[in-house]
Amino acid sequence: MSATAPQNEPATTHPAIHQLMEEFGVTQECREFLAAEPQQYINGRFTNGQASGRIDSIEPSTGHLLTTIASGAVEDVDDAVAAARAALDSGPWAAMKPNERQGLLLRLADLIEEHAQSIGEIETLDNGKALGPCIEMDVLGGADLLRYMAGFTTKIHGETRQVSTPGDHVAWTVRQPIGVVGAIVPWNWPFNMALWKISAPLAAGCTIVVKPAQQTSLSMLYFARLCEEAGLPPGVFNVVTGRGSTIGNALASHPDVSKVSFTGSTPVGRQVGAAAGEALSPVTLELGGKSPMVVFDDADPAAVAAAMRWSVFFNAGQVCSAGTRLYAQRGIYEQVLEEAVKLANSMKLAPGLDPECDMGPVISGGARDGIRDYIKRGIAEGARIVCGAHQIEGDGYFVPPTVLAVENNDATVMQEEIFGPVLVAMPFDTEEEAIALANDNIYGLAASVWTRDISRAMRCVNAIEAGTVWVNAHDLVDSAIPFGGFKQSGFGKDLGPEQLDHFLKTKAVWIQL
Ligand code: NDP
Repeated sequence: MSATAPQNEPATTHPAIHQLMEEFGVTQECREFLAAEPQQYINGRFTNGQASGRIDSIEPSTGHLLTTIASGAVEDVDDAVAAARAALDSGPWAAMKPNERQGLLLRLADLIEEHAQSIGEIETLDNGKALGPCIEMDVLGGADLLRYMAGFTTKIHGETRQVSTPGDHVAWTVRQPIGVVGAIVPWNWPFNMALWKISAPLAAGCTIVVKPAQQTSLSMLYFARLCEEAGLPPGVFNVVTGRGSTIGNALASHPDVSKVSFTGSTPVGRQVGAAAGEALSPVTLELGGKSPMVVFDDADPAAVAAAMRWSVFFNAGQVCSAGTRLYAQRGIYEQVLEEAVKLANSMKLAPGLDPECDMGPVISGGARDGIRDYIKRGIAEGARIVCGAHQIEGDGYFVPPTVLAVENNDATVMQEEIFGPVLVAMPFDTEEEAIALANDNIYGLAASVWTRDISRAMRCVNAIEAGTVWVNAHDLVDSAIPFGGFKQSGFGKDLGPEQLDHFLKTKAVWIQL
């Protein structure tokens, strides 16, 4: 292991991380990006702004320092919002024709694709996730969404309406960009969730200030370079880094922000909603979840387990829509558990850069300890360990794929979002009972139903209170299909044409003839 930083890498990066990069190899571009102290991106400039210090960015598989980011100040939010407002009101972005804006977004999507490897490596080092799926889903999925939304730029239109008001009039509606968008994103899909927040507003002609999660800001700072290269005018896209309680709060409550788009936990979502409400800004809240997988006797247990790889243990279980509540009908229950255990025991835990990695570490020591506490609490409340649950020694934040079985739906592990690779299972007898169990939770983000009986599947689809219901699948996502929760999983939709509506305002125009 080298004791000193190789040339072109930041002196702060821990030797254990240099060793990782040497062992698995990363692009020169990734090395160079990490070597430069990452700055905020405000009004087309990389700048330290009014930052009062730096925040550590920790590589989760080693638990050591990767680099630092600027701890931005409220004044940086003010500057970024002012720049975004100015770009909205005048200059090249305001004057741009829809097809020119479309060309720009398509160019940006091409650049994401060209630099997918480097973006993936930066994300993997910052977040811990497995590199292959990160490139495939997070990065290229982001490019796909940008292209999908770019298609709308030339199809935004109002309508003429027949009016019955006495006299001679013509009246019509005009759709205009809503204004400056404040986007606040979580750490579990730093690049992809940010693209979920950015693509529709750019297509609508809005300007944006993004606040990435403090643990994972690097991929957005890299993306800012691509925005420059694509030719996005200054002020259209800004990144302010720092603490949620200051930067995030300042953005959500800013009087010149016209729309707040937030993805994160339910408790923080409540604060963001309150701050936006105070400023009378409309807000979209994509919040937590505890999604049920409801498996009937006629389902294929192997298919259910195959889906669990992506729906329970993927991204180390740090997935808002993860199907971590398993309700299986009594006749198939033991078989499904057996398959789940086979899957869990087959998964290789490794640093995300390792091509053999099935599951990387969780984001932080705090997250790892929180998951362990949930497991302990589950056991104290009577849960049976079916597999996993052991502690993994070392500096990295690894948690084994874990399956717990409970008899009681009130168990804390069955009710609360653990946000780690922990599946909690419980048997049921009847369809009515399964629906009641699925709905017996504060969240309503997503659910899946597993059966070959189409009538039963449709009854469950209609009765389950969730923003998405899959049948014989879990966690399918597509740019064209709206995603967003019911109940305490939030409101408003990301993706699909529904999302675009959030970023357009409708103006009515009348002419008296
Ligand atoms: P948090 O709610 O802790 O943070 C989300 C973002 O909000 C971060 O950028 C954070 O900044 C910022 N923030 C924190 N405090 C405030 C505040 N007072 N005002 C404004 N912004 C603030 O969520 P996590 O990052 O922990 O993400 C995990 C959560 O996200 C889970 O509950 C998960 O279910 C949910 N999620 C939901 C999705 C959905 O589509 N429904 C998709 C993905 C995740 P900082 O990092 O600096 O604290």
